Amino acid sequence: MMKTLKDIPDLKNKNVFLRLDLNVPLKNGEIVDDTRIREALPTVQFLIEQGARIVIGSHLGRPKGDGEEDRKKFSLEPVAEDLAQKLNREVVLMESPDSDAPRGLLAEGRFDKIILLENLRFHPGEEKNSNELAQKWAKYSDIYVNDAFGSCHRAHASIDALPKVMPQKYAGFLIEKELNALSKIRNAPEEPFVVILGGSKVSDKIVVIEKFLDSAQSILVGGAMAYTFLQAMGVSVGKSLVEKDKVALAKELIVRFEARDKKFILPIDHIATRALTDSDGAIATTSENIPADMMGVDIGPKTRKLFAEHISQAKTVFWNGPMGVYETKPFDQGSFAIAEAMAKAEGYTVVGGGDSAAAAMDSGFADKMDHISTGGGASLEYIEGKTLPGIKVLAGK
Ligand code: ADP
Ligand code: MG
Repeated sequence: MMKTLKDIPDLKNKNVFLRLDLNVPLKNGEIVDDTRIREALPTVQFLIEQGARIVIGSHLGRPKGDGEEDRKKFSLEPVAEDLAQKLNREVVLMESPDSDAPRGLLAEGRFDKIILLENLRFHPGEEKNSNELAQKWAKYSDIYVNDAFGSCHRAHASIDALPKVMPQKYAGFLIEKELNALSKIRNAPEEPFVVILGGSKVSDKIVVIEKFLDSAQSILVGGAMAYTFLQAMGVSVGKSLVEKDKVALAKELIVRFEARDKKFILPIDHIATRALTDSDGAIATTSENIPADMMGVDIGPKTRKLFAEHISQAKTVFWNGPMGVYETKPFDQGSFAIAEAMAKAEGYTVVGGGDSAAAAMDSGFADKMDHISTGGGASLEYIEGKTLPGIKVLAGK
């Protein structure tokens, strides 16, 4: 059984290695969305209240190495500042993830700081799941706590190798919350269960679609993914994004789902444009067909209404993948309509996926949904039924 924070017998003056997912989006060195930091606070605050001495480890982005440029671009410095402000506490950023300095700092008599290791991916051992690196951290840690749900699908040193050598390991509050919500989607959701799928590619989502063929009563499809399905149904999709090598598979999935008397629902109209940069020239189509010289960039008004009706009748709703190119206004409106319908729905509503979560946050309806996962890839892998390495190791001896 996985143990959680409340199971820790004594935290007073204990050195806790806390793995968090502080991988926030940055623009010109500024944090664009601090959701992941905010979601990590309850665990940090609990550890502070219990008198623990905290060393936080996190990755940020995908640095290629520890060259000068990457070191600047992917530094956790802005996160350290934000965290210090939110916790009203000094946050000391270590120069490197494998620094020996925490040992000395933790040994101070009065310890009221928080130590933050620099981006764990600056050290090649992190992604290689290096035992040597893990031993380095273990040397100054009494207790390991993982609350980095968004990183649990990767067997990296701070997620896997470290807890393997730590006798005391626990899950934080965010992991508990995520598993509680996502397990409702993964295991026998209350019916009718409606799934909304979108995003860019069918190929990214095949396993999760297969899973929903079994559990969902209806699947509503939007986003670029819809055009591969529409093409399979013989609809004209113009210049929309289609995965040509997945058209046959799309057809097969529809047939299999409908053979079980379930509903596969595709868009009945679209927002179409000649070029992504041409939002002024965008039109709403009158049917499911798209003019030959245009591409579909969002679901149209009739589709939004249709999808909303299905969502309102559901007992459980899961949404993954934006309905359109939500990064470009006004092609975010279809996704916002889904967010609104979910906010108003009486059923249990969950959003999973990096971009869908971002769209849900932007919509202004986030606080009216039951759960928005902080884990992009991790949430999908969990729902697919995979065992996440970071979760598995917490349950081990
Ligand atoms: P998530 O991260 O929620 O799992 P994905 O990564 O699968 O979602 O998909 C998100 C991407 O899909 C976004 O970058 C969005 O612009 C793109 N997308 C959605 N609809 C379309 C479309 N009609 N044409 C092109 N790209 C689209
Ligand atoms: Mg994505």
